[in-house]
Amino acid sequence: MDPCDIAIIGGGPCGSLAAISALSYNKDNYVTIFEKRKTSGYPPHCSGLISISGLKKLGIYHFAAKKTSYNKIRSAKFVSPEGKSILIKRRKNELLVLDRPKLDAYLAKQAQKLGANLLHQHTVKEIQRKNQTWNILFTGGRSKCSSITAKIGISAEGHHPIISSQVGLPTPSKKWFFPAIQYELDNVMIPEKETVELYFGNKIAQGFFACMIPLNDIQARVGLAIHPNMTKGARTYLNHIVKKHPILSPKLKKSTIINSWGGFIPANGPINKSYTDGFLVAGDAAGQTKATTGGGFNIGGYCGLIAGKIASEAIERDNFTGTFLKKYEQLWRSKFEPELSLMKFFRRTLSFLPDKTLDSLFDIARQTDLAHHMQKVDNIDLHGIGLFKYSLSPKTIIHGLKNIPQLVTSMFNGFLV
Ligand SMILES: Cc1cc2nc3c(=O)[nH]c(=O)nc-3n(C[C@H](O)[C@H](O)[C@H](O)COP(=O)(O)OP(=O)(O)OC[C@H]3O[C@@H](n4cnc5c(N)ncnc54)[C@H](O)[C@@H]3O)c2cc1C
Repeated sequence: MDPCDIAIIGGGPCGSLAAISALSYNKDNYVTIFEKRKTSGYPPHCSGLISISGLKKLGIYHFAAKKTSYNKIRSAKFVSPEGKSILIKRRKNELLVLDRPKLDAYLAKQAQKLGANLLHQHTVKEIQRKNQTWNILFTGGRSKCSSITAKIGISAEGHHPIISSQVGLPTPSKKWFFPAIQYELDNVMIPEKETVELYFGNKIAQGFFACMIPLNDIQARVGLAIHPNMTKGARTYLNHIVKKHPILSPKLKKSTIINSWGGFIPANGPINKSYTDGFLVAGDAAGQTKATTGGGFNIGGYCGLIAGKIASEAIERDNFTGTFLKKYEQLWRSKFEPELSLMKFFRRTLSFLPDKTLDSLFDIARQTDLAHHMQKVDNIDLHGIGLFKYSLSPKTIIHGLKNIPQLVTSMFNGFLV
């Protein structure tokens, strides 16, 4: 195999977008994508709930809306452990419910069309640095083990990176790896097609939340994630709420499961360093996910675009030093921080709250009109600052005074894990 300029490890959305960006910058870049699966995006590990504004920023909104969208979402209904609810209604539809495998396959095809050498069923096993060049060892294809050289490596390996740790970069903390599972159901009683429902509580989805995402008038995705410290598995929680949740289960009484899938959500915010000599990390592998909701497609994808561009600039300048590649980290942090870190703060604080406190937070949210406040947040993907400002407003503090001890305890528990 010919030496390549940029080797991308992982052909998920972030890897494909990094390739698209590198080849849009310079079509002569020789880019190879290694993808261990047979088909990009399959089997899925996503609920497919993705913001329209984020898709527009990635330049893929039209394809996503026309060819992969099942439904549009305008509102979110939050339900407390006791069944109290808050409806946040945005002015227009802001999210699509998508077919992720189709979208991932499209991105992989686009990267190929621009000239990327996409190798399915090829797994990168090891990476070694010699004379300022990477030697990448992989399995797949005709021979059992082969190697290729590259000037720059980009890890877009997803939630469980192996290669980025080999180059000495940090990986997302396993202590905050939330197992997630989801059913796709038919014959669901859907009260409002444009509303997602989110259910909170320690018996429902300890440490995170469960949700019902309508696909159309009769089908929905119902799933949840839980904190990894839980003794029961995520599937046990999901089966329990499908059968027993007083508000959700009546809607699912006549439903049948047509599909099921799961995965892991890195919910510890971004890693401390995402670059080193000749190497960048993007997407879930860099923890570029929203720790509040688990969404990682748009932000990780955008970081993939930045990684591809900076890798191309490095090739153009023949400068592969960490000092130059640091620009990647500066750019994505300037775009997504402090949002991502604030979301991590909220995740850590909320994950260990007792149900009673969660319920009283719902009361406070209603008294202080959280719904109205969240309507005003410009970018639904970046809600960390909006939530932070709301939490620190005098009205919220006054109403929330009695919960401060539990919030502080939960926050400490979260940071001690
Ligand atoms: C149950 C669940 C629901 C979710 N729902 C949403 C949602 O509604 N909205 C949203 O925005 N996000 C959601 N997410 C998160 C979202 O799926 C991820 O943030 C997103 O897929 C990250 O993209 P990525 O390219 O970084 O990683 P991935 O999509 O995981 O892609 C990484 C790819 O790298 C390949 N790979 C890994 N190691 C190697 C190797 N050594 N050699 C070759 N190939 C390799 C893998 O096979 C994989 O295809 C959800 C996650 C889960 C688990």
